[in-house]
Amino acid sequence: MKHARMVIDGAPEDGTARFESFNPYTGQAWATVPTATTGDVDRAVEAATRTFHDTWRTTPGVQRARLMTALADLLESRADAIAEMETRDNGKVIRETRNQMGFAARNLRFFAGYADKLYGRTVPLDHPGMFDFTRRRPYGVAGLVTAWNSPIALLANKLPPALATGNTVVVKPSEHASVTTCELGLLAAEAGFPPGVVNVVTGDGAVGDALTGHPGIGKISFTGGSATGTRVAEAAARRLVPLTLELGGKSPNIVFADADLDRAVVGAVAGIFGAAGQTCIAGSRLLVHRPVYERVAGAIVERAGRIRLGDPLDPGTEMGPVANRPQFDRILALIEAGRDEGAALLTGGGPAEGAGEGLFIRPTVFGDVSPGMRVAAEEIFGPVLSIIPFDDEDEAVRIANDIDYGLAAGVWTGDIDRAHRVTERLEAGSVWVNTYRATAAQAPFGGVKRSGYGRERGEEALAEYTYVQNVMIDYSGAARDPFSIRT
Ligand code: NDP
Repeated sequence: MKHARMVIDGAPEDGTARFESFNPYTGQAWATVPTATTGDVDRAVEAATRTFHDTWRTTPGVQRARLMTALADLLESRADAIAEMETRDNGKVIRETRNQMGFAARNLRFFAGYADKLYGRTVPLDHPGMFDFTRRRPYGVAGLVTAWNSPIALLANKLPPALATGNTVVVKPSEHASVTTCELGLLAAEAGFPPGVVNVVTGDGAVGDALTGHPGIGKISFTGGSATGTRVAEAAARRLVPLTLELGGKSPNIVFADADLDRAVVGAVAGIFGAAGQTCIAGSRLLVHRPVYERVAGAIVERAGRIRLGDPLDPGTEMGPVANRPQFDRILALIEAGRDEGAALLTGGGPAEGAGEGLFIRPTVFGDVSPGMRVAAEEIFGPVLSIIPFDDEDEAVRIANDIDYGLAAGVWTGDIDRAHRVTERLEAGSVWVNTYRATAAQAPFGGVKRSGYGRERGEEALAEYTYVQNVMIDYSGAARDPFSIRT
């Protein structure tokens, strides 16, 4: 049984109470994890605050970068072991968790490159004898809360820009998959980060609530569902703390008749059945041009039927179990809702037999879905695809945008003019053309509408963890009129 430990002020901690973490493939507890008390959260925030003021704020960028690079090296050297832990914790297939470790190291290196390049600007003013410049300053302690579906990859969107810009952090992973975040906290200590720069507290939503509501937190970054995100936004608003929200999605993946249909089918399958559909960017609404509807739907159903379900630790497995029991029950209930509302069940539609003991759901495809149905409107966060036919470009854009969410979208077309026209009209933070679920440290990521606000990755992420300080200097030596402001 793996014994996970929190990290507070650079030291591993067992906590006073512990809970079990279940492997969704075996159904067995495989690790125990501490439940942080509010006192633990207080100590973590205090350590992060002290280190921010005493050390980290004034640590030169080049040194922050060196430590981040050391952490990237350590993460890569332990990638196989940590990926295996993540797969045990949330059931995601090893071929993906292993990639995610590389992605996390890449993000650390990308943002390490900015740590000594956080330039301000000189600002020309109207008056001679005045000099104005800006600098970027860290907020202090950042509270980082992540979801269970990709603990390390989600943290890799937050931790590197937070550290590069000079913030210290307290991280709270999901109770459903905490182990690898604890490991990363230990690796940070091993990499040489001063105690208190990277703290990890574990437990359920109450711990997240204590952290995001803590008066010592100067910045919050949250990844999770839109309902919890709304609660976090309310807590942040009470104290006017800046917030980045990465929330849910119901992303449209649009296939036009002029597309390379073989590639589009692969992209549609990757979009919804990759990670068993448990990704915020899942292309869960497939909008298909009516002239190619039958052909595309048929090819997807055929490929869905051949997806290899099984042990997520087996590199040959394409789809693992879903991550936890509440999630399993919710997906099945939404499949039932699709049936009740009259969507045509083309394949799947229930638990998978014979794939193993775990929480397996058969890759499920509904056809002839209308936009108002629950399976077309609600985030399912599972391997369930809703195919919606459309007749022309305007209708495709209207259906794509007629949703509360705005995280991602895909467009499959061989017509470059159409690609530009459609991407420009889509209300989504990320749009892919002739690909789906591709990601890069350099490319900004985030949502609009109920998918949240703020951006992770890319240069844009630096702005999330810094505020601009403007400094105005009067070197004219002239006396000013004390009763009138100078403009
Ligand atoms: P939740 O919103 O339930 O949980 C997210 C995190 O918030 C967890 O660590 C959770 O802890 C914690 N939490 C729970 N209650 C509170 C609270 N009151 N205050 C502060 N933190 C709290 O999301 P899920 O775990 O269900 O994750 C799935 C959701 O995440 C989906 O909607 C998905 O789309 C979204 N997501 C978004 C991504 C993006 O980048 N946009 C990426 C990945 C997922 P605990 O789990 O221990 O209860």
